[in-house]
Amino acid sequence: MAEKKTVSVTESNRKKKTTTAGGSNMPAAKATGSATPKRIGAVILWILAIALEVVAILMVGNRIIINLKYHLWFIIGAIVLDLIFVICGSLLWKSANLIDPASEKNKTKFWLWNNMGMLVAVAAFLPLIILTLTNKNADSKTKTAVGIIGAIALGIALLFGHDWNPISAEEKAAMEGTFSDSALPEGDVYITSTGTKFHLYEDCQHIKDRTKFSCKEAASEENKNIVDIAIEHGCTEVCKTCEAKFQKETGTTPAEGE
Ligand SMILES: [Zn+2]
Repeated sequence: MAEKKTVSVTESNRKKKTTTAGGSNMPAAKATGSATPKRIGAVILWILAIALEVVAILMVGNRIIINLKYHLWFIIGAIVLDLIFVICGSLLWKSANLIDPASEKNKTKFWLWNNMGMLVAVAAFLPLIILTLTNKNADSKTKTAVGIIGAIALGIALLFGHDWNPISAEEKAAMEGTFSDSALPEGDVYITSTGTKFHLYEDCQHIKDRTKFSCKEAASEENKNIVDIAIEHGCTEVCKTCEAKFQKETGTTPAEGE
């Protein structure tokens, strides 16, 4: 697997140069620390989203009436705000996952951490849809509108909630080992905006004719570490061609498995 390949580069690097490892890397503790406010922010936004859903449910049941003439519009407004809070919460949560990913060793937590946005999406819209469609007090116009808008909102929230490129603590640790090591052939890592792999050589055949950028430059501009730049752009695996070239140059052989 790709993850194991990453580990193999890391391991061989560590064996060769243990004295200089970690020189350009920020301490992991600092990166972990900034994930907590993001998680708290995400949870607060999600709680607000659920609160708005409750308001919408109460309005559908005519328990809250702000303005009778525009009643349906207030319900729709609550659903839209609900959706905005869910999306903002999910984006914050996913960025926290990049900084401080869950360990694969704890299967439940790993699944939960990577699927939290989708679970919240379901919780923030499905009860509203079901309770509206089964509400005897709601008229058919309200049922149709809330049913359709609620379903669209649920779909959008699921898209934003899904982590398209989840990373584990182990993968990130392996990347940090590779990146921090001064044995990086060019002292830098290169990525493209659409790729999922990071490259060790600027002239790698896969990125030679494409728009690429240096993670090191971006890291110093944004005051982050190289690993976070690559991960933020969805690049969590080392390019196979670069890895082969690296192994050929350094004389290290790939070690399969852990
Ligand atoms: Zn490459």
